[in-house]
Amino acid sequence: MLDLTYETPKPKIIAGAKHDWELVIGLEVHAQVSSNAKLFSGASTKFGAEPNSNVAFVDAAMPGMLPVINEYCVEQAVRTGLGLKAEINLWSAFDRKNYFYPDLPQGYQISQLYHPIVGEGEILVDMGPGVARLVRVERIHMEQDAGKSIHDMDPNMSFVDLNRTGVALMEIVSRPDIRGPEEAAAYVTKLRQILRYLGTCDGNMQNGNLRADVNVSICRPGQYEKYQETQDFSHLGTRCEIKNMNSMRFIQAAIDVEARRQIAIVEGGGEVTQETRLYDPDKNETRSMRSKEEAHDYRYFPDPDLLPLEIEQSWVDAIAASLPELPDEKKARFIKDFGLSEYDASVLTADAENAEYFEAVADGRNGKLAANWVINELFGRLKKEDHDISQSPVSPTQLGGIIDLISSDAISGKIAKDLFEIVYTEGGDPAEIVDSRGMKQVTDMGPIEAALDEIIAANPAQVEKAKQNPKLAGWFVGQVMKATGGKANPKAVNQLVAQKLAQ
Ligand code: ADP
Ligand code: MG
Repeated sequence: MLDLTYETPKPKIIAGAKHDWELVIGLEVHAQVSSNAKLFSGASTKFGAEPNSNVAFVDAAMPGMLPVINEYCVEQAVRTGLGLKAEINLWSAFDRKNYFYPDLPQGYQISQLYHPIVGEGEILVDMGPGVARLVRVERIHMEQDAGKSIHDMDPNMSFVDLNRTGVALMEIVSRPDIRGPEEAAAYVTKLRQILRYLGTCDGNMQNGNLRADVNVSICRPGQYEKYQETQDFSHLGTRCEIKNMNSMRFIQAAIDVEARRQIAIVEGGGEVTQETRLYDPDKNETRSMRSKEEAHDYRYFPDPDLLPLEIEQSWVDAIAASLPELPDEKKARFIKDFGLSEYDASVLTADAENAEYFEAVADGRNGKLAANWVINELFGRLKKEDHDISQSPVSPTQLGGIIDLISSDAISGKIAKDLFEIVYTEGGDPAEIVDSRGMKQVTDMGPIEAALDEIIAANPAQVEKAKQNPKLAGWFVGQVMKATGGKANPKAVNQLVAQKLAQ
């Protein structure tokens, strides 16, 4: 369906003291499902509510309370699977993952270990125009989020907020197909973009609604290819998992510093031990959280409170039929239909709202011109004020109106920028503003010629020079533009200057 061809990037090579090393990375992304209610209760998922106000009895694990699955959360997981071109499992089941933690009143998390709802999928990770890597997704399973312990409110006590307890998460597990820090960030960026297009997760990393556990190992050149041929993990190095990363910048820094740590160990004659680590951005280092020996034995078993989850193919088909156009498809269409460069198409499709705005502007107009105005003028101006497209004071109709005035030669490009600024700050109809403020391009050549004659008469030395060197004609064009307040048509002025200098 996609006719984008791309080149696969080279793996990141870290030049070590003795050898070159390649990186191998696999990500487990936790994405909070966009839904009003929790996975197994009717309590609200609203962020920032009064602590412990969105807690149903079952979330607080009151005796005798039973979980009831939220159909909409299942639908969101299926939609996500379909958006990642993944297999949907019509039969899946929930398991209990047992561990003790103050913010986990049940004493276990309900998850899907053995039979996840979504199987193999894929994500095309863009690394710049013409360069991308197809990363395989191993599975997506649904699970409950835990609550939150608060340690910084009181010197002697810790508090627990159960508002997040039981909120639905999707854990999206990649294969170890990611080959560098930038690729890992690009993978999260692309996944986030797809989730936002689908409306299944808002992707707000600051609020922790999207966070990643990053698995990192190192190998010598050639080893990864052996793994690819055989799918045998023994060709790869031992991995360490860096927990709970919620910033693109930290993900990259953590991978880099973790890889260097592993290289130093192996080149020093030691062995990497499989463990869970935490990244400390202040010190730019990873620290051990727990080793494999200390790893929890979660004593997984099927949750006896929940029946296996059986869904129907017809339901899955109906969800598939309602999927929006996704980023790759939209980008390819923008390139084809509007004649855009891949770069411009990427910028315009980064967000569905941006894309929708652009399409409204480009409708019936020159696509490239529309792209230029949306990206350079509008996005540039919005960025200055830290606004997004939903806060744009200029509507697609207004921006389209400005573009129409340029296309019909009613105003010059220079005046169009002034007009844009007026519309941005004061509002109004572009054509009316041009009329009422006399911004129309001067098409009557009489006054233009008079202005030019005056300039020529006043600058005989410049005239002589320009006759020797035609490149200097630009000076006269500039003077005429100045004299007419930028309203002369530059093309016409150019012609006129050339004519006069040739006399
Ligand atoms: P576990 O069940 O212990 O979490 P998984 O096999 O599910 O282990 O893998 C978890 C994550 O680690 C996956 O994203 C996977 O791609 C990644 N991974 C596995 N082996 C490696 C490796 N050698 N190097 C980097 N990442 C790896
Ligand atoms: Mg895992």
